[in-house]
Order: sequence, then C-alpha cells, then structure tokens
Amino acid sequence: MLQSLFQELEANYSKMVEIRRYLHMNPELSYKEVKTAEYIANFYKELGVDVRTGVGGNGVVATIKGDLPGPTVALRADFDALPIQDEKDVEYKSTVPGVMHACGHDGHTATLLVLSEAFLKLKHQLAGTVVMIHQHAEEFAPGGAITMIEDGCLNGVDAIFGTHLWASAPTGTIQYRVGPIMAAADRFEVTINGSGGHGAQPHKTKDSVVIGSQFVMNLQQIVSRRVNPVEPAVVSVGNFVAKNAFNVIADSASLIGTVRTFSEDVRDQIEEEIETVLKGTCMTNGATYDYTFYRGYPAVVNHKEETDLLVNATKEIAEVNVIEEAEPQMGGEDFAYYLQHVKGSFFFTGAKPEGVEVPYPHHHPKFDINEKAMLIAAKTLGNAALTYQKEHSVAAVK
Ligand code: MN
Repeated sequence: MLQSLFQELEANYSKMVEIRRYLHMNPELSYKEVKTAEYIANFYKELGVDVRTGVGGNGVVATIKGDLPGPTVALRADFDALPIQDEKDVEYKSTVPGVMHACGHDGHTATLLVLSEAFLKLKHQLAGTVVMIHQHAEEFAPGGAITMIEDGCLNGVDAIFGTHLWASAPTGTIQYRVGPIMAAADRFEVTINGSGGHGAQPHKTKDSVVIGSQFVMNLQQIVSRRVNPVEPAVVSVGNFVAKNAFNVIADSASLIGTVRTFSEDVRDQIEEEIETVLKGTCMTNGATYDYTFYRGYPAVVNHKEETDLLVNATKEIAEVNVIEEAEPQMGGEDFAYYLQHVKGSFFFTGAKPEGVEVPYPHHHPKFDINEKAMLIAAKTLGNAALTYQKEHSVAAVK
C-alpha cells in the first residue's frame, strides 16, 4: 500500500504544482475564501468523493472511506492568504492586488488534494477512513478551527496530523516535537488616562507619555522576575501612541502588545501581572487606565504517541534526509484546537527554496517555497495516516 501511495503521489506531482500555482495566483483573505472553498469542493465532487461545504464558515471536509475497516485519521490543511502585496518576479505571482499566499497555505491545500486523490485510488486497500479537513481563516483570530470543530469536523476522528511548509528549514527536513511546538499568541491593549497641559508646566499635568514609558519599563520585570525562568514567555509592546504638538503634554497614551507563552498557567499569570504592573504604575502617578487582554490561539501541544508514530512514518520516505526535533516556535497556529479534542501531531516540512542562502521569511512580500516540499509533505502525512491505521486496526474493529 505504502509504495503504491508514494508512486501515485510522484506521478501526480505536476498536478500538485499546478494546483498550488493556481491558488497562489488567486489568493483570498481569511473569512473571505469563497472561491477557494468552491475550488476545493469541486475537486472532490469531480472525484465523486463525499464532501461537506460551509463547515463552520468557509471550511470544507472530505471523507474517504476505505474498503477495509479501521480507525479514522484526519489530515488538515489551511487555505487562507494574507493582506500582503506579492513582490515576487515569477509567472505564478498573485493576481490580486494586496493579497498573497505568503505563508504556504496554497501548498498545504495542493498537498492535501493530491493526497486525497491517491487515497481514493487505493481505497480497496485502505483499512479505515481518512478525513480531509480544509480549514479557512487560520491567519486571523478567532480562526476557522474552532467553528469547524463546533460544526463536527472531528466527529468520529481518532487522531489528527497536520504540517506547515517551513521555508527556513532545508527541503528534505522534517521537524517534529513532543509537547508544545508553537506558542499561545495573545494581545493586550492599554489606555493610560493622565491629564495633559502645556509642555512648559509639567507640574500641572499627569504626563501619559512618562507614565506609559514607566509602564513599558516595569513590564520588563514580568518575564525576568515574575515568571518561572524555565518557562518561555514573551511580553512585547509593539505600538505606543500619545500624539500631540511638540510642546503639549498628552492627555492619554495607548499601548498594544503581544504575549507568547507555552503553558496555560504562565498565560494566566501574565494576563494578571500586566494589570498589576499597570495598576501600580498608574496609581503612583495619579492616572487611571483601561486594560483588555485578548486571547488568541492556545499553544500547539503535540501528543507523544502520535509524534513518535510520525517520526517512524517519516523514516520510510527517501526524500527526507534530516528528521530533527524542532525548536518551539513563538508563532501561533490554530491547529492547537484540534489537539485539545483528539490526539495527534503537528510538524514542520522543510521547504527552503533551491539555490537560496537566506530564504525570505513567512509573511514576507517575496516569500516562496520549494514546491518539491509538497511531495514530501504528502508522503509524510499519507504515511502517518497509514501507520496510524495499521497500528490501531485491531482496536478499531470492535
Ligand atoms: Mn501559516
């Protein structure tokens, strides 16, 4: 079965490239991926595969049932693009001004579609079911995963696997990790209400710029002095606005920042600590504040058994020459939610473009992938599903 699957995928590699380039030229923003969802649904309809559209929004779910009994494995690919102007000089450049597949989700989708077709051809040998989760809106919180789960995309699913094409890792590399692999990504917004006045009479004001600056400095103690040093955490202020004329003290200052953590306890702790620091700083200065902490995606936490299985499945792929433990990434991914419901593993498939020393990072206007990585991703996801079905077949046949 495995060799036939690999042969099918190899034979259809050019189709994968074709699909990816079509999607690359026709990107759609998160929550607006109507045509992309339609394209995916049509692909399955033409194959005669059972497909459900409008799952939790623009999500599409296809189910391929093998002729033999066995467990159900879900594979997930996201399909939204970003509000970025494509600045690449290639024939498959985005045709939509200001919108671009700058994270490789086009590649994820092409990978899963061609893999589905291969599974379908081999369904007489397939011992179990494969559920293809095509997820909309990964790039923009609250994200498509939550609503797709609420709408039943994981019903009957025993395990899930997903990958991200990863341009910073060489093609031929698979990076895995047991436990947290990507961070919880949260946002906080603060307004400091002082009282403004003439720049020459500071004693008659409550200077929101000075108070805001103290707040930013005091925030630095959260990670360095409040959080347990063995727990990774980031608190960064990316936006600090208190506009006025050069000789006028501003009434109020607004600050927006991001928090990244791996542990739920540390996440809760930092949410509280920020307010404690803010309250103290404002009290000292006689100012008041508004504070809102917006929760983004939780951390992506991989399960051990499924990750070990993935590593073993990866060893059977000739194109993979490096299988290594990934460093946890401080970026966020809403794959996290699937792993809160079923066991599984999320991994990185190296996709560094050929002949490039330093690749453009994800979300860069010149971001690109090595398309050959899609074949590796398809084989890895495909074999993860097959291996899971093989290892769990007895338990599944009740
Ligand atoms: Mn992404």
